[in-house]
Amino acid sequence: MTQKPNWDGWAQQIDGTTAVAGVMAWPVEHSLSPPMHNAAFAAGGRNWVYVPLRVHPEHVEEAVEGIRALGFVGANVTIPHKNTVVDYLDDLSDDARALQAVNTIHLTEDRLVGHNTDGAGFVRSLAEIGWSAEGKDVTVIGGGGAAAAVALALAREEPNRMAVLNRTPEKADTVANIVRGELPDLLVVTGNLTGGFSQDIIRESEIFVDSTSVGMYPDVDVDPVVPVELLDETMLICDLTYNPRETVLLKAAREIGAPILDGTGMLVHQGAIAYEIWTGTEAPVEVMREALLQALETRAGSK
Ligand code: NAP
Repeated sequence: MTQKPNWDGWAQQIDGTTAVAGVMAWPVEHSLSPPMHNAAFAAGGRNWVYVPLRVHPEHVEEAVEGIRALGFVGANVTIPHKNTVVDYLDDLSDDARALQAVNTIHLTEDRLVGHNTDGAGFVRSLAEIGWSAEGKDVTVIGGGGAAAAVALALAREEPNRMAVLNRTPEKADTVANIVRGELPDLLVVTGNLTGGFSQDIIRESEIFVDSTSVGMYPDVDVDPVVPVELLDETMLICDLTYNPRETVLLKAAREIGAPILDGTGMLVHQGAIAYEIWTGTEAPVEVMREALLQALETRAGSK
């Protein structure tokens, strides 16, 4: 049983003027966004509340229209609705349009605008530890939505070259084509995870990002997505997975002395950017991080 976070009388403060936001997902029970955003709203002194929105895949259109009908501030969107909601919005940000995926909806002047804050969230988490992709050889492993968002955001930082490698190479090509469509002058190469070309690419990486679900709970005792022998201590090794924080890949990277970045920074910052879109003010990032880490810890304790 998950323990209810201590909201210090939060529910009692809801009144007729409370603004509402939420997260649309299916299932939604395990979302960490409600504690993170409610903590942020409280810290910002806002009479706002953030609720889980359990949206069945058959009802995505009505749910999106419901944001407008019910006068929500907006909503986050996560698995499995990030692509589907695109069809029901009035407008999209540049990233959301390129990715055809939305993780944040904002109701503004009766228009539903879709944003994708995942990639920018990752780049902010990178900056937080003093790294940028500018001029670097960057490798993104994966071919899903997270890989595409992160590859595009890193590509906007003007790396020396970008590689997208995936178990199913056709999906790496799809990600690469999104990046090439936005940044035609950038060198983007693709491949699988096992060929000699791919292994050379990995060895030459300065920033290595695992955007796959390999090592995610409950399958934590697996081999890292690529052989650890290909990595060394000069590379920044990132893993987007945040449960557990230290994945099998990050543990191996730490043991060889490489700098590492786990997925919690991206999760905090994608939420912080959503907060900024909704409120027009700076997000209380440290409050959000503390709430997120506490919720993660609570969840780990209840397994
Ligand atoms: P997704 O669309 O399902 O993509 C999963 C990717 O993992 C695919 O590229 C898949 O390869 C690869 N994969 C799965 N099992 C594999 C294996 N055994 N060996 C090699 N590759 C394997 O998922 P997603 O939405 O992109 O999310 C990916 C990860 O990012 C998840 O762990 C998620 O929690 C994390 N994420 C984190 C944040 C954050 O804020 N930190 C945000 C979004 C996502 P194939 O294409 O070959 O199947």
